[in-house]
Amino acid sequence: MRDEKSELNAALHGVRTVVFDLDGTLYDKRGLAARMVGRLWWCLPLLASERLARRNMHYADCASEEEFFELFFRTMSRGHLWGPRIAQQWYQHVYLPTMVNLIGKTCPRREQAIELLDECRRRGLTTAVYSDYGCVEDKLQALGIDWKQFALRISAPELGALKPSARCAQQVMELLGAKPETTLFVGDREEKDGASARAVKARFLLIKN
Ligand SMILES: [Mg+2]
Repeated sequence: MRDEKSELNAALHGVRTVVFDLDGTLYDKRGLAARMVGRLWWCLPLLASERLARRNMHYADCASEEEFFELFFRTMSRGHLWGPRIAQQWYQHVYLPTMVNLIGKTCPRREQAIELLDECRRRGLTTAVYSDYGCVEDKLQALGIDWKQFALRISAPELGALKPSARCAQQVMELLGAKPETTLFVGDREEKDGASARAVKARFLLIKN
């Protein structure tokens, strides 16, 4: 217990702003992909195309959220019978609501991150959620986490790209008015969240699985 407390103190030493990742950081996402398949078995080709499109969009850098999703749904439709419009309808009305529902019903919150969040609140630090997916507020609500406590709730696609886009991370810093030397990024993926922190020269805390 004392070790945990001193780890927390060390992580927050000199920090004024904490940028939390959402999926896999504020909740345990293990098994979620399999449960998504279980729920969406009737539209598996669409589910597979979403995953592939996300992988293929890794290095895309678009000027806006609109442009990002236009390219995303076009990528999802490539080589399939459905067009971008069907992909969009499915993503917005089936995929995301199913994900939010499953997170709320089946995914436990990650205590290490929640304790850190509580400590931030006690210390009066500025906090933000910076996710790689949309529905940030809906997911926080499903997890029983008060989204209003975060000064900023945003996803990388809203800024036109995916993590670890250096431009998006920089924009998050600007929106928060944060300085690199007093900012801590918290996430479960070194290559996404850690790389975002490094891109803006902020500190990083890995929430281990
Ligand atoms: Mg994550």
